[in-house]
Amino acid sequence: MIPEIEKASLAQIKAVQEQELKKLISYLDTHSTYYQGVFAKHNILPSTINTLEDLVKIPVTTKEQLQQFNDDFICVPKSEIIDYVTTSGTLGEPVTFALTDNDLKRLAYNEAISFACAGVQKEDVMQLMTTIDRRFMAGIAYFMGARELGAGIIRVGAGIPELQWDSILKFKPTYLIVVPSFLLKLIKYAQEHDIDLNASGIKGAICIGESLRNQDFSLNTLAKKIKDNWNIELYSTYASTEMNTAFTECSEQQGGHHHPELIIVEILDDHNCPVPPGEVGELTVTTLGVEAMPLLRFKTGDMVKAHTSPCACGRNTMRLGSVVGRKKQMIKYKGTTLYPPAMDNILNDFNEVENYIIEIFHNTIGTDEILIKIGTQSPTEELLHDIKDHFRAKLRVSPKIEFHDKKDILKLQFPKLSRKPVIVIDKRKTE
Ligand SMILES: [Zn+2]
Repeated sequence: MIPEIEKASLAQIKAVQEQELKKLISYLDTHSTYYQGVFAKHNILPSTINTLEDLVKIPVTTKEQLQQFNDDFICVPKSEIIDYVTTSGTLGEPVTFALTDNDLKRLAYNEAISFACAGVQKEDVMQLMTTIDRRFMAGIAYFMGARELGAGIIRVGAGIPELQWDSILKFKPTYLIVVPSFLLKLIKYAQEHDIDLNASGIKGAICIGESLRNQDFSLNTLAKKIKDNWNIELYSTYASTEMNTAFTECSEQQGGHHHPELIIVEILDDHNCPVPPGEVGELTVTTLGVEAMPLLRFKTGDMVKAHTSPCACGRNTMRLGSVVGRKKQMIKYKGTTLYPPAMDNILNDFNEVENYIIEIFHNTIGTDEILIKIGTQSPTEELLHDIKDHFRAKLRVSPKIEFHDKKDILKLQFPKLSRKPVIVIDKRKTE
């Protein structure tokens, strides 16, 4: 199940996107209260938006606008809405997203071709290790994608290593859909219970929520820890509720492939202009074929790098590398620009670090400060020294570090109603 467009030439891909863009602009002009307002305010005639280059004539859409005018983005009457989901709201208020029947079909198609990109076939069985409810879009997308592809799916949900293993041994799935750090818990459980990991029949894991690779596509510490114990293929996938679309790695594992029939991608600088090819910028998306809540030039807040060389898998579509960081979490620290994921990679190198929280705040003179609270059972001077040295070696700077009880860190990581652990607490916004 590989759409023809993925192997089409770049010119053909552009032509398809421009055709879809024109449909979208005309649709928004007719159905979207929010974008009708934008077009009127900025004197944009829908007939003047015909090419991808024309996009820069249109203002970007920010998360704040989406929060503030949430209902104005909905293009269909309530009676057409089937599924209601919310964004996780890691940064700011959650946004409501509505999906029509056609949007759910589009989501199923998106996930089916994403699974197919990672090599999943009809004969495969996947074990779903994320929640399918709690107003979460991805879980239902995985289920519908498997169904569309004709593959089997076992909905175990998040957590509970014992139930996960019971299910793996009972139903013999071939792929796991999982947050990669949870694989470490599955490995630990297997080792403690005499389960032979490499005889489990698992071929690969579709990994969400955390990155597996450095910017040069080599495995990061987390991925290495997994692969050292369990010989399975790891595929990164990057997606968000706002995009209604996923970027999933193929067999070459060189970044997540773009589905050009579903989304237009721009990588923008601070002035909302495209960055030079190969440079890091903010991922900005225009959704194609979405009925209930299409977005035009939506700034995702994620800093990424696009790779445009043809892939050895035969696809010509653009690939996205691991997210370098959240734009809002960019830290200027002692003259260096940092993002929390770079700190995650360093902390994951230490087995003694059981969990941690990265706090970012302004000091008395208004510049950024970083305090890392680490949960460990061996709070020694030596460990502190080693961690600080590792920071200096990798990032040139070393933040403040405090040791805490693992349980206290766990409490900070899971505030009420949180669907996923909070690793970064950015106090700069609330000061
Ligand atoms: Zn590829």
